[in-house]
Amino acid sequence: MAAPGPAIKIAIKKNDNVVVVTGRDRGKKGRVLRVIPDKGRLIVEGVNFIKRHTRPNPQKGVKGGIIEREASLHASNVQLVCPQCGAQTRVGRKRLDDGSSVRTCAKCKGVVDK
Ligand SMILES: [Zn+2]
Repeated sequence: MAAPGPAIKIAIKKNDNVVVVTGRDRGKKGRVLRVIPDKGRLIVEGVNFIKRHTRPNPQKGVKGGIIEREASLHASNVQLVCPQCGAQTRVGRKRLDDGSSVRTCAKCKGVVDK
């Protein structure tokens, strides 16, 4: 299910607030730290922590031990939290008069982008 598919267009952007809709961290909310468009994945602050065991490597100045850090999630496992209405929502798009497009909330139709 989590197999890498073709690159999808991610409607989520860095610094968006999202909620996890599937998996172990379902219901958790966080801010998007990084988007990896090639893989259709993103990293959300405080979500999907993994423990990673590292070997000491003195040549690189790396101390051994266990570090905890966020692992990436597939973009389809999160939904945007609308900054206007606070609902978790799909992202729509609206084209403006000047030709640019903004993201919109599918629930309240509010503009997500500032
Ligand atoms: Zn909304």
